[in-house]
Amino acid sequence: MIRLFLIGMCALVALASCAVVSIVASTGNRNLAIGVGAGCSAVNADPKAVADALGAGYDAGQARHAITIWAVAADRGLGERAAVVAIATAMQESALRVLANPNVPASYNYDHDGEGHDHDSVGLFQQRPHWGEVKDLMNPSASAGLFYDALEKIDGWEDLPVTVAAQKVQVSAYPDAYAKHEAGARAAADAIGGEAECGGEWVHPVPGAGIVSAWRSASRPSHNGVDLGAERGAEIHAASAGRVVTVVCNAHTPAGRQLSCDVDGSPQIMGCGWYVEVAHAENVLSRYCHMMQRPAVEVGDTVAAGTVLGYVGSSGRSSGPHLHMEIHRSHKPVFDTAVNPEWFFGTKDISL
Ligand SMILES: [Zn+2]
Repeated sequence: MIRLFLIGMCALVALASCAVVSIVASTGNRNLAIGVGAGCSAVNADPKAVADALGAGYDAGQARHAITIWAVAADRGLGERAAVVAIATAMQESALRVLANPNVPASYNYDHDGEGHDHDSVGLFQQRPHWGEVKDLMNPSASAGLFYDALEKIDGWEDLPVTVAAQKVQVSAYPDAYAKHEAGARAAADAIGGEAECGGEWVHPVPGAGIVSAWRSASRPSHNGVDLGAERGAEIHAASAGRVVTVVCNAHTPAGRQLSCDVDGSPQIMGCGWYVEVAHAENVLSRYCHMMQRPAVEVGDTVAAGTVLGYVGSSGRSSGPHLHMEIHRSHKPVFDTAVNPEWFFGTKDISL
């Protein structure tokens, strides 16, 4: 196999458009493959093939959990190495099974593949209660997210051997136990990545709409996005591939009384109305506000660049139909994570 690195287009900025950072070309009959990350979706992964890659004793059900673990890494733009660490960890901890535990009765309220008896550890990663709520520890996707939260806190985890990284997250009594799973985890990640659909493409969220109010202008220093003027009912498109993480009506009086988002708001009220957030690879997030009605997507939906999220309206704090759009360099958006969308889209050769 020959490993090629396609990083030229991504050289200047480490952003979500750097979708494909490595391609493994094959001289054999496999057409491979693309690593985790950057807008990659695992929906095409074949659980049977992934089970074979994991090794003897693994079935399609266990493989589906590996695919979920991989997909969460991709959503976060963490790269293949993170997925390998997490899959190897879950292989060691639970043989990739969601385990309930008699010592944690609530764990039986959630889908599980079997039962474990180690202290009060539950789920794929055998996380104990201090990791989070039982419902999350028993949820493959949420528990993988908790694993990656911990992994990302380890300085230089990208450069650590897989087993060392796993041990630092898990603080296991058997630190060497992860090593024997590394090859299977890596093969599984390759199998999933080989079928992944990756797209770093970005598109204009409302084609034809221009900026009517700029990002953090002198008169609006706390305006964390741009306002794109558009007709009521115009389609709002996901600017790039990703996962819908927020669908909310946010409209209330200054005193906090909740208001409807299905009607026009006004400059006198608070909130950005019906809004959607999409998490993209490389830790980028886009936010779309003031939609005219309940958005067309739901939390957890995987979207492509151009997927219709909803329709331009004037719900929330708004004086007329427009799309208020924000770009954040974090999946946990706050004031300081916002960047100027006009600049950001400019790096994609898109003029807002
Ligand atoms: Zn705005």
